[in-house]
Amino acid sequence: MADPKGFLTTPRRTPARRPVCERVEDWHEVYTGQSLLPIVSAQAGRCMDCGIPFCHEACPLGNMIPDWNDLVYREDWAAAAERLHATNNFPEFTGRLCPAPCESACVLTINADPVTIKNVEVAIADRAWEDGLACPRPPERHSGRRIAVVGSGPAGLAAAQQLTRVGHTVTVYERADRLGGLLRYGIPEFKMEKHHLDRRLAQMRAEGTLFRTEVEVGADLDARRVVTEHDAVLLAVGATAWRELRVPGRELAGIHQAMEYLPLANRVQEGDLTESPVSAEGKDVVIVGGGDTGADCLGTVLRQHAASVVQLDINPLPGECRPEHEPWPVYPHVYRVSPAHEEACELARRGVWDPAEHGGVPLPGPEGDIRVFSASTFRFEGDDEGHVRSLHLVGVEPRHRRAQQGTERVIPAQLVLLALGFSGAERDCGLVTQLGLELDRRGHVVRDARFATGVEKVFVAGDAGRGQSLIVWAIAEGRSAAAAVDRWLTGSTCLPAPITPTARPLVA
Ligand SMILES: Cc1cc2nc3c(=O)[nH]c(=O)nc-3n(C[C@H](O)[C@H](O)[C@H](O)COP(=O)(O)OP(=O)(O)OC[C@H]3O[C@@H](n4cnc5c(N)ncnc54)[C@H](O)[C@@H]3O)c2cc1C
Ligand code: SF4
Repeated sequence: MADPKGFLTTPRRTPARRPVCERVEDWHEVYTGQSLLPIVSAQAGRCMDCGIPFCHEACPLGNMIPDWNDLVYREDWAAAAERLHATNNFPEFTGRLCPAPCESACVLTINADPVTIKNVEVAIADRAWEDGLACPRPPERHSGRRIAVVGSGPAGLAAAQQLTRVGHTVTVYERADRLGGLLRYGIPEFKMEKHHLDRRLAQMRAEGTLFRTEVEVGADLDARRVVTEHDAVLLAVGATAWRELRVPGRELAGIHQAMEYLPLANRVQEGDLTESPVSAEGKDVVIVGGGDTGADCLGTVLRQHAASVVQLDINPLPGECRPEHEPWPVYPHVYRVSPAHEEACELARRGVWDPAEHGGVPLPGPEGDIRVFSASTFRFEGDDEGHVRSLHLVGVEPRHRRAQQGTERVIPAQLVLLALGFSGAERDCGLVTQLGLELDRRGHVVRDARFATGVEKVFVAGDAGRGQSLIVWAIAEGRSAAAAVDRWLTGSTCLPAPITPTARPLVA
């Protein structure tokens, strides 16, 4: 156990975020890594080393959290890094981006504040890089087996690293011009700077993983040929088919899907564009969708200096405390303020805009918050040039989401971003048709308990098989599918498999 009295004597402390006025003027990460280090060992010392560590159960990777908390408390960073990398290929990604279901399951949460598990994780990962402990681990010998991984998101990269390290020759095919999937073109720079990704990719290259970008399997390369030329093929192509908003006026210019908007901002940061062709600068912006993708749009809109912004959520305002039907250790739906929401609130407080009087129309919602809950869009209105001018919304009752009479509002909008989630893998693409892949009714690639599709030699991992999820699940999928592929090729495996294809988050 780390510090036997740590949880009694040390209050939870999270690292300071940079001041809002500073961070909305640049694209760097909201947290500065260094601000974490003076406090992290004491924070790790709050871990109670429970007999049954529920945090460990709640983490899809099965990260050995109490072990590394103890090691960090004792300042044995090298052993902590070794223990962390034993279960997680990319802890610097999850330590920055994971919503941390482990913290909701921490036993301390029952009557106190949880251990700052995610911050301890990122501190160990960053320290491992600084101390040269995250060096390449090439295989001792080669198996002579050739494996194609299609897609370079976290699932594909985790699988490729695992399979390379046990000696297979792995080629990752990626249709985009750069590697990383949604880590590269989706997740904004202010949540994770891309040099973290590039550093891991360099490590993977040094270990022997081969990468081919700008190759769409099923279009540039016949998918059947890829299957014929490899001993196994792992599809990790994500679930990028977005949900549409079918209301009058949807065809107007200025209404974009979040995933049409966010990658352009990523490209500006990569240096491909000097400015985004879809910028929020000087515009009244409405983000439709209350999830994390909507929050990413919000942070991006703020950094592009919008005139005003409102985010609509069809769901009711969540409570501050765990609802009864989501008891500990379940990850609860509660009112959360992301760094992007914090930024928007503070800008509103400083009078950059007035969310309560957006376009002269009072909007309900928690004080200072730019989110409007229980709100549904029923049409858009355009100007004479066919460009969106306003959005018409209506309040909905929480249970059946039926429109409530007398709650209609019109809010000005010259830019509308749709962040309504995703409906599975792309259906009408060459990959699906050439291989004859079976998709279920939610659009996920059908697979069995060994991550195998119905097509001989072809496996599937990540969002493509599970549906849009989280990076921690994608890495767990990649690791487990790698174990399944290795076992299928060689008859046995030493690779860990943290989850099954049907594993789901903890539920009550
Ligand atoms: C905007 C946004 C923000 C998010 N933020 C977070 C977050 O903060 N934290 C979190 O935990 N999760 C987040 N998620 C979810 C997370 O990013 C995904 O669950 C995760 O990236 C899925 O990984 P994957 O490897 O399965 O697929 P992806 O990351 O989608 O990668 C799939 C890759 O396959 C490639 N590809 C597709 N078809 C082909 C083909 N035929 N040939 C070659 N290549 C192909 C694609 O170009 C892509 O690069 C976010 C999602 C979005 C959309
Ligand atoms: S990957 Fe996520 S769930 Fe697992 S320990 Fe890290 S923050 Fe917690």
